[in-house]
Amino acid sequence: MSDSAVTDEDCADLIVHLARLAQGGPAATRLSAAQWTALRYFARANRFSRTPSAFSEFHATTRGTASQTVKSLVTLGLLRRCCNESDGRSALIEVTDAGHATLADDPLADLRKVLETLPAEQRTALASTLRVATGALAQVRAAPTFGRCDACTHCAPNDQGAYCHCTQSMLATAEMQALCIDFSPRARPGSAA
Ligand code: SF4
Repeated sequence: MSDSAVTDEDCADLIVHLARLAQGGPAATRLSAAQWTALRYFARANRFSRTPSAFSEFHATTRGTASQTVKSLVTLGLLRRCCNESDGRSALIEVTDAGHATLADDPLADLRKVLETLPAEQRTALASTLRVATGALAQVRAAPTFGRCDACTHCAPNDQGAYCHCTQSMLATAEMQALCIDFSPRARPGSAA
């Protein structure tokens, strides 16, 4: 496929094919694709987002299906349910030591290695393009866009880390790197607000 002939259809096919390919490989057979996604998600999500319902939004699936996936990983000893101090109706999900050990064999490691070999400008442009496309599609689907504090409108940095105006909580510097379901992207300079 030559670059000059690339169509929207080609791009969509490439994104889906890349995602499928990345989820394959020898390690993939240990868990289903949904279980790997859940394990990865709960290892990367912040304390406001480590719930089965937030995972269902991230994985674009129903709450029932997401709950079944979480339940299966709890049974395998890779996730555990903890009490959620900010919402008594929902459990907070944590990755166990065995879950973290399993993530050391994450099938996505091969894709990360491939992306590492791209020149920095190409990687930045790719991330930016994917972020814009994800945001636009999330808007079409009326779904939340997940992101991190440093690019969120709710984030007010201070000496200790930041204050989140959405959750009305102090954020430590380390947790600002985590994925959040309440993320609201800041308009980029030059883009329409
Ligand atoms: S600042 Fe934004 S991304 Fe960070 S915790 Fe608050 S809502 Fe989530």
